Amino acid sequence: MANKIIMGMDGKLQVPDFPTIPFIEGDGIGPDIWKASVRVFDTAIQKAYGGKRKIDWLQVLAGEEAFNKTGSWMPAETMEAFRNYLVSIKGPLTTPVGGGIRSLNVALRQELDLYVCLRPVKYFEGTPSPMWQPEKVNMVIFRENTEDIYAGIEYMTGTPEAEKLLHFLTREMNVKNLRFPNTTSFGIKPVSREGSERLIRSAIEFAIANKLPSVTIVHKGNIMKFTEGAFKNWGYALAEREFAGNVYTWQQWEKTKKERGEAVANEEMKISAIGGKVIIKDAIADNFLQQALLAPQDYSVIATLNLNGDYISDALAAQVGGIGIAPGANINYKTGHAVFEATHGTAPRFANTNSMNPSSVILSGVMMLEYIGWRDAAEKITNAVGRTIRNKTVTIDFYNLMKEATLLKTSEFADEVIRNL
Ligand code: NAD
Repeated sequence: MANKIIMGMDGKLQVPDFPTIPFIEGDGIGPDIWKASVRVFDTAIQKAYGGKRKIDWLQVLAGEEAFNKTGSWMPAETMEAFRNYLVSIKGPLTTPVGGGIRSLNVALRQELDLYVCLRPVKYFEGTPSPMWQPEKVNMVIFRENTEDIYAGIEYMTGTPEAEKLLHFLTREMNVKNLRFPNTTSFGIKPVSREGSERLIRSAIEFAIANKLPSVTIVHKGNIMKFTEGAFKNWGYALAEREFAGNVYTWQQWEKTKKERGEAVANEEMKISAIGGKVIIKDAIADNFLQQALLAPQDYSVIATLNLNGDYISDALAAQVGGIGIAPGANINYKTGHAVFEATHGTAPRFANTNSMNPSSVILSGVMMLEYIGWRDAAEKITNAVGRTIRNKTVTIDFYNLMKEATLLKTSEFADEVIRNL
């Protein structure tokens, strides 16, 4: 009991020096990558705290490995461990095909109500990138993780449910613009005020705590007014209501511009930015994807709904080196539950080849260490990964795109990071 991370009454995590943290190795390339990553974590913690702190790793099963050993894709003990120990980390899991089994990742997110999918996107010097100036990319994405199209409220055309909905829409709601009603499937996009507010609140709190310049609400509100558009409006209202002294919103700027002229509005914006206030602005999703390529330096924290967040996370990850290096986390800041994870899949073709890039799990571990407040160990690993890439000692994914690099196995890459700690 004594070594459990718990959420304190003050809303802050209480982390013992020897916390138990459950981990799932993952399927496919997962075991190779986990074995490499855990050595990096343990060595960095040892170097940072000289034995005064250490993680007590607790292996739990999920995915294909769990299915083969226990007959269940997500054994109850695993879910219980994740619930009980608050903070955990996982490799990629095979998504079972067919049979009505949900994606295991989606199941975890929903069971623990992990409403933030957090994806930092940072460039490590020397990483092969399709960008002209990739060093200008430095963003943190807060993707809403529990609502939107992902709620799974979908009906296939021809089923009684779709018929019933069609009937309701055309007869009771007077919907006239279904182009081919008899062959239409339906998906429902639920977006709530509470769900939107807790996501945007987390993003603004993160920006304030980390002294970041702006939060951009990315949405498609020009088309979906009451879901995506409401998300934006609720976000601005929340920012002005709850963070009045700490933020300056684009809407305030617009209002001042209308009432007192553009020069005054610009001056207000300048003073706010210099004073360290977080600028709250918004961008329509398609334009954002363009701006993220053309002017990435203008964006810092991004708050967005589930589907946009899915696209944006992978697109931005590609700008700084792709999914082999992109870390992620799913977090409920209220309960403290957090699952840190590789953002790539199981790449089954490469299972047991000891050849893939472990950086995604290593950097997810960095996020985890930051989350539990072990910043010295986190910083050591970040710097060591940076040095390893700068030295061009890399795994096959980077090797193929670099000139005069040295090709390393997964385990050798970890050795190199450890040497650079
Ligand atoms: P994938 O990410 O597993 O692989 C796609 C390609 O990306 C690979 O062929 C490889 O070239 C490259 N790649 C992936 N990880 C890499 C790494 N660490 N280093 C270097 N290159 C890497 O995607 P997929 O093939 O679409 O999915 C395979 C399985 O993984 C499916 O069952 C899918 O559902 C599952 N999946 C799981 C997660 C997760 O657990 N978080 C995420 C995505 C996909």
